[in-house]
Parts: sequence; structure tokens; C-alpha cells
Amino acid sequence: MKYRTILLFGAPGSGKGTQGRIIGKIPSFFYFACGDAFRNLRIHDPIGRTFIDYSSRGQLVPDEPTIELWRKTIKAAEVDGSFLPATDTLVLDGIPRNPRQVEILKEFIDVRAVFNLACADTVKMIERLQRRALRENRLDDANLDVIEKRFVTYERETKPVLDCYDAKLVHAIDSTQEPVNVLTNILDIVVTV
Ligand code: ADP
Repeated sequence: MKYRTILLFGAPGSGKGTQGRIIGKIPSFFYFACGDAFRNLRIHDPIGRTFIDYSSRGQLVPDEPTIELWRKTIKAAEVDGSFLPATDTLVLDGIPRNPRQVEILKEFIDVRAVFNLACADTVKMIERLQRRALRENRLDDANLDVIEKRFVTYERETKPVLDCYDAKLVHAIDSTQEPVNVLTNILDIVVTV
């Protein structure tokens, strides 16, 4: 059985995590943020080291360790009962992040909707990242060069993910709105899928 899934999609700083954390609090939704899973690894974990190596340069972590971490984390949540695939909707943030990850995940997830959090205002997104750098102690948000590289990576490797899904599944959401309005837009659609 494939996991019933919705994807939160968008550039760094577009607000995926803000929305995902809220939606994950609603009963029957289970939130997984790939970046958080990497950051939660122990310092000596080999995947954790790979993560620091790539993310500090604004690059994607290679697909194999990324998918391995995803599978392990989701399986662990199934085992501890926090994720109930029979009744829950999986909310994915930051994965799949390139077309190859889309292909690999196809076997496991049934994507019901893709929310493209679009923010035309790059300056606003960079400001959000720099605020987050201080609040969440994120090194990849602190350095402007790294931020710029992440936007390039997003355009080149991640944006093509949108073309991998049926256009009917992809919903553009204006993420320059206040978070409560972004949430309302998403939930209006979620209840119909
Ligand atoms: P943001 O919210 O800025 O998009 P994330 O917390 O989602 O950042 O990701 C931080 C970093 O973690 C990325 O820049 C990348 O190096 C790595 N990462 C997260 N998810 C993936 C993924 N699915 N594949 C490869 N690398 C990933």
C-alpha cells in the first residue's frame, strides 16, 4: 500500500516548514521535513556528515543517503505509532527534491496534491532565511553566498519536479500572504483531495 501524500514545494524561505509544522498538528496528518531529519542526525552519523558537507555549499545531498534517511524515519514513525498509514496523510516538505527522487519515491507514495508555495519576492525570501539563521542557528541560512547557491540549485534541480506530476495535482499558492492565509488556501484544497 502506498502512503497517501501531499507535497509542500517551494524555494528556500517560501514557508514550507511554517505550513508543514501547523498541518502536522492536525489529527491524521503526519509531517516529514527532510532538512529537519538531516539536522536531527547525530554529529557522528555518516549521513549527518554528508549532509553538512553538501548543505554548507548550498548543494543537494546525494539521492541514496537522502532516500535511506526518509525510509528509516518514516518506518520508525510507523513502528512507534506516530504515523498510521492506513488513516494518515503524509505531508512531505523538501522531498522529492529532484526528478530522480520523484522516480524512486513513486513506489512508496501516492501523491494527491502538490502545493507550490510561490514567492516572486526573492528579497523577502532571503530576509526570512536570514531571520531563521539567527533563530534556528542554521549555518546554511547565515551566509549570503550559500543562500544564493541554494536558489541556483532550486532553479536547476528542484523546479523540474513540478513537471513530473500531472498539472491537475499542482496548486500554486501565493506565499507572500500572511501564514494564516497561506494555510487557508492549502486547507481549502486538502479537504477535497
Ligand atoms: P529550505 O527550507 O531552505 O528549503 P531544508 O531544511 O529543506 O531547507 O534543506 C536544507 C538542506 O538540506 C538543503 O539545502 C539540502 O542540502 C539538504 N536537503 C534537504 N532535503 C533534501 C533532499 N530531498 N535531497 C537532497 N538534499 C536535501
